[in-house]
Amino acid sequence: IQTIHLKKRPVGAPTLDNFELTESENNLNIKDGEVLLETKYLSVDPYLRGRMSDAKSYVPPFEVGKPINSGIIAEVIDSKNENFKKGDFVRDRLDWKTLQVSDGENLQKVNPDKAPLSAYLGIVGMTGLTAYLGLHEIGKPKKGETLIVSGAAGAVGSVVGQIGKILGLTVIGIAGSDEKVELLKSEFGFDRGINYKTTDDMKAAIKEAAPNGVDIYFDNVGGEISDAVLFSINKFARTINCGAISVYNNTETPTGVSVQPFLIKNSALMQGFIVSNYSDKFPEAMEQLSTWLGEEKLTYRETIVEGFENTPQAFLDMMDGKKKGKMIVKV
Ligand code: NDP
Repeated sequence: IQTIHLKKRPVGAPTLDNFELTESENNLNIKDGEVLLETKYLSVDPYLRGRMSDAKSYVPPFEVGKPINSGIIAEVIDSKNENFKKGDFVRDRLDWKTLQVSDGENLQKVNPDKAPLSAYLGIVGMTGLTAYLGLHEIGKPKKGETLIVSGAAGAVGSVVGQIGKILGLTVIGIAGSDEKVELLKSEFGFDRGINYKTTDDMKAAIKEAAPNGVDIYFDNVGGEISDAVLFSINKFARTINCGAISVYNNTETPTGVSVQPFLIKNSALMQGFIVSNYSDKFPEAMEQLSTWLGEEKLTYRETIVEGFENTPQAFLDMMDGKKKGKMIVKV
């Protein structure tokens, strides 16, 4: 059995030294009510960076020396639980282990005939739900409005933009390479894109891309990019504070330009969003995402890295933007 532990907490940007891979004999036996799970796909996500620090957040920090955990799709390879049988596929937040035992309590079955298994970690999983619910619950989109999305070529952002187009909005995406900006337009149907890495004056670029101003800002990155977007917001604009990856590696509490005057003069809303606080809406959101996927109104990109042992590198590459769409590890 292979396991990946948090070896030490990162200060600033994480490196491979923060992780440790160990191997042990398989002496797992299941008791009544338990199932034996073999990991098939692992999700590496930006929020794991927060959990690597010893700071209080909406999910508890990882413990040094203990396995890391994240969203995993596993196959039931043995079962003494009446709800699961050998050959079922399940999703849960599980340890970074190739084999493990579960009491079955939080396992959700997933159907490989309805969507590819990896999609349950992305478009019909946590990141798709984040895109759908963040946009609807806080963004309250109306046809004809202008939506701007940061982190636009990523797992959440690429879905936000596509939903915006389905709902009849003008959609602008911000991403970290010309190739990604091209992908936003050619594959995900965004109207315009901005490469924040090669644009000196983001405020001017956003004004040019959104001549009618911004009604909804779906923010995945925070920091300076977001400060620049807020210079273009319209009256009654809504900002969804979904993520702030640009400051996750900061060692000091970030402070930005004082954006309050923009919010005041536009009667604008800015609201934090955590997808798990909207779990009562998951069934309807899943239903809609699956329907759009079936109708080919939605598409998705995955970067799949092969090999359990490559999970830490996949996490680092995801943080660095060296991928498109959802980053997933196939075991
Ligand atoms: P992504 O697939 O978007 O991957 C992260 C991307 O962020 C990178 O690939 C990179 O792309 C970009 N990025 C990295 N550093 C910076 C930076 N300094 N400035 C701007 N962009 C940067 O991840 P997800 O779609 O899974 O998550 C997107 C955001 O949503 C994250 O902030 C995450 O924490 C948040 N999130 C929040 C949830 C919630 O419930 N609130 C749930 C899920 C995600 P590029 O090449 O464009 O720089």
